[in-house]
Amino acid sequence: SAAEIGVIGLGTMGAMLALNIADNGFAVAVHNRTAARIPEFMEKAGDLARRITGHAELEDFVKGLASPRNIILMVPAGDAVDAQIEQLRPLLDVDDMVIDAGNANFHDSERRAKASEEAGVPFLGIGVSGGAEGARFGPSIMGGGTPEAWDRVAHILKAISAKYEGQPCATYMGTGGAGHFVKTVHNGIEYADMQLIAEAYGVMRDGMGMDAAACGAVFDRWNKGLLQSYLIEISGKVSAATDPETGNPMLDMILDRAGQKGTGRWTVIESQMLGAPVPVIEAAVVARNMSAQRDLRLAGAKAFGPTGGAMADGTLSLDDLEQALIAGKVLCYAQGFELLIKARAEYDWDLPMAEIAKVWREGCIIRSAMLNDMASALTDAPEQNLALAPYFADVLRKNVAGLRKVAVVAMGAGQPVPALAAALNYFDTLTSARTTANMLQAQRDYFGAHSFERTDKDGSHHGPWLDQHLQG
Ligand code: NDP
Repeated sequence: SAAEIGVIGLGTMGAMLALNIADNGFAVAVHNRTAARIPEFMEKAGDLARRITGHAELEDFVKGLASPRNIILMVPAGDAVDAQIEQLRPLLDVDDMVIDAGNANFHDSERRAKASEEAGVPFLGIGVSGGAEGARFGPSIMGGGTPEAWDRVAHILKAISAKYEGQPCATYMGTGGAGHFVKTVHNGIEYADMQLIAEAYGVMRDGMGMDAAACGAVFDRWNKGLLQSYLIEISGKVSAATDPETGNPMLDMILDRAGQKGTGRWTVIESQMLGAPVPVIEAAVVARNMSAQRDLRLAGAKAFGPTGGAMADGTLSLDDLEQALIAGKVLCYAQGFELLIKARAEYDWDLPMAEIAKVWREGCIIRSAMLNDMASALTDAPEQNLALAPYFADVLRKNVAGLRKVAVVAMGAGQPVPALAAALNYFDTLTSARTTANMLQAQRDYFGAHSFERTDKDGSHHGPWLDQHLQG
């Protein structure tokens, strides 16, 4: 009998997603560019193979789907998606729908949604988070497209998604690229969350002289408190692991050169375009880029002698460090949500702010206990900066002192803590009634006659310098 949904692309994510769909009782048809991968996949499917039909030919795959067809693409973002749609579309009827579930740049999803609208065909762009395990057992899903397109497959997406206290983590975010935009910001926050944790690890390792196992025990303990999250949990696990080859702590055998696929960078680019600062995410992207410049760092260490020395005993406590991470985390999420608030206005998306925090509570990489409190805060005031929401303002009042102490001590010892420092600078700027931008305005007026506003009266004004130096 005809399958209810199809999946193209049996790589890491597509294979797991297809199994998840079958596991939830839906008949699914699958296809992969390299046909040899299909029988391999069917074999791995085991008992679930009874609900899965593999098709080596794209035409057969299309014929194997019930009309109107719903087809999930799980191929690399970018050209592969366009190529696959181009190949597929001539085989489809006008009401058949393509669903791009990869990590698309939201501009591409906007473009594809527009092209589909012009052609009168449905299109959905969904952000899927949770890695391979999430795809298999319940990811977090962020949908973008027309409400009708979403409604057509919402029952399947909700069924396969993660559940938070029984509520599905699969939510419609808005038209066009809204789902992929929310997924991009999710990934930007993920970069920042990871970098903050890595910096705390660095303070323990280099500043406090703790070995990997000791760091792991601290993460395990923190995972029982306010910081409780998937990323803290796995940080505890990777810190405790031993390298089977050498018997050394696994962490100590891993080269300090981080990879990336670009979604953090996209978040930063969009934040700059929208004038919505996300300095902790920027610091995290820069940290990955600098980690990749290993030869340069080695040359720097040789030329200047290594920095990042030990901190004197007792200058920092593990409680200070926990406070620093709590405050850093709140501030980085405040920035991420600010970016979403700006995008909401700019792109005319009715982004459901509290629902975004809710959809991230389970299934995705940044899932954490704190997101539930963020959902509550955003329910009360969807457009308010989270740092000013009463609950989180209170968290910050209790924890910023630790952030300040850790940043100051670490920088004093020559240890880079770019994300923690960015969080602190964001806080100190956010709470500045008077910044130094009056100096910038004076400079701009001096060299470019850009004018400025005055503190004592309305209107636009120039300084006494203009006539003199422009005539000069
Ligand atoms: P994989 O590299 O494991 O699989 C890629 C799949 O796409 C393969 O089936 C491959 O087929 C197919 N493919 C590649 N190029 C083309 C093309 N030009 N035309 C048609 N098919 C093609 O990737 P992932 O499963 O990891 O990632 C898929 C998408 O999911 C990406 O957008 C990724 O960013 C996103 N994603 C990944 C996550 C992860 O943790 N891995 C998490 C969340 C999203 P073939 O066998 O022929 O090579």
